[in-house]
Amino acid sequence: MGSIIEVEGILWPPIEDPRGQPLRHLLDFLAVSERADPAAIRAGQAQQFAALNEWCWQHSAVYRERLQRAGFHGGDALSLDTLVKLPLLTRRDLQQQAQALYCQPPASHLPVAETFTSGSTGEPVTLHRSAVSQLFWQALTMREHQWWQRDLSGRLAAIKASFNQPRVDTPSWGAPASLFASTGPAVALSMSMGSEALADALIDIDPDYLLVFPSQLQAIQQCYREQGRRPARLKQIRCMSEVVTPELRATVAEDFSLPLCDVYSSQEAGVIAIQCPHSGLYHIMAESLLVEVVNDQLQPCAEGEVGRVVITDLHNFATPLVRYEIGDYAEVGPPCGCGRQLPTLKRILGRQRNMAIYPDGHHYWPRLGFYRFRDIAPILQFQVAQLSVDTLECRLYSERPLNSAEEGAIAEVIRSAMGYPFAIGFRYFDQPIPASGGKYEEFVRLF
Ligand SMILES: [Zn+2]
Repeated sequence: MGSIIEVEGILWPPIEDPRGQPLRHLLDFLAVSERADPAAIRAGQAQQFAALNEWCWQHSAVYRERLQRAGFHGGDALSLDTLVKLPLLTRRDLQQQAQALYCQPPASHLPVAETFTSGSTGEPVTLHRSAVSQLFWQALTMREHQWWQRDLSGRLAAIKASFNQPRVDTPSWGAPASLFASTGPAVALSMSMGSEALADALIDIDPDYLLVFPSQLQAIQQCYREQGRRPARLKQIRCMSEVVTPELRATVAEDFSLPLCDVYSSQEAGVIAIQCPHSGLYHIMAESLLVEVVNDQLQPCAEGEVGRVVITDLHNFATPLVRYEIGDYAEVGPPCGCGRQLPTLKRILGRQRNMAIYPDGHHYWPRLGFYRFRDIAPILQFQVAQLSVDTLECRLYSERPLNSAEEGAIAEVIRSAMGYPFAIGFRYFDQPIPASGGKYEEFVRLF
């Protein structure tokens, strides 16, 4: 895929940029390991987990205490076989102990960068990711490009959570693709433009590939459906950050006749699973992470069962995420027929904090992006926050405050979409609604 990337200013003889070499080596390894026997993958995970565990036992008092509290005494007491006995590390633990959880990694893993996930929930999480961890993120991102056979010389358009400029043009896709090959140009568009303006901009840009949040895709798609047009060259749509519903997948197939490729990722753990072009199942990135799906009794779920996603990051020594409950629900999938032996998830159901809870106790993940709030008032961006079991707050970034008739109409749309007569208050923002770790969340539950 692509020619070698040259050192800037060196045209003859060409020299390969050394920054791309570790990435190429890792990708070559992954191309083989993904088809290896599952027992070989498990053996590799066990070996790597032992190295992580030994290091963190020696260098992190907080890690050592956590294991000791669970009855593991000694650096080699915990293994993949006994891991199920270790209580989960929660998001709250990460929030409360972010600095204490830091573990000085081996010198060859440096530098370490801080990652923040914050914003709408008001519960920031800080963690540290090493250069090794960053390399895995790059390699798994490239693996996704390879699985989907993208032509990196094509034009990429990405709709991002709100940033200050409506449009930023760059001559390349940026890292990691640009470390690997000479790429085509990229355009980043801000979600705060609103769906009609985004739909127009995409016609003008005419990208080969589109990277977009599912809720935004739904709104843009509806514009194109009404207008009877679409970007002509578009080859694939790639979704990120939010749950892709079966309905969205079906309407994209119907309207665009295009594949919708989804990546399951998080700020804390990087790329967790990549959708398989063959089956649509999500292959777990087992060379990078151990992913468990457990029920409320913390027992492993069988194929077809839905449970809580628990992650062990095998390579990030800087903030050891061992049995970290990431806050998502997923269904355990069957083996895939594509030849890749990596275990699968059949579907990702969503994050706990994006799940609405009703007074009768039932819950679901609302999808409000489908509705045309802009037909009612000049709304640039919205977010619905559930404040209590029967109260919602509608947060609006709009060209002007809404009058009471408009507020009433919006409230009715939300009540109808959610199927319950919630009390709804309004809150206005004079700038884009803060994204949570780069993720736009159209619905958040704050209790
Ligand atoms: Zn597959």
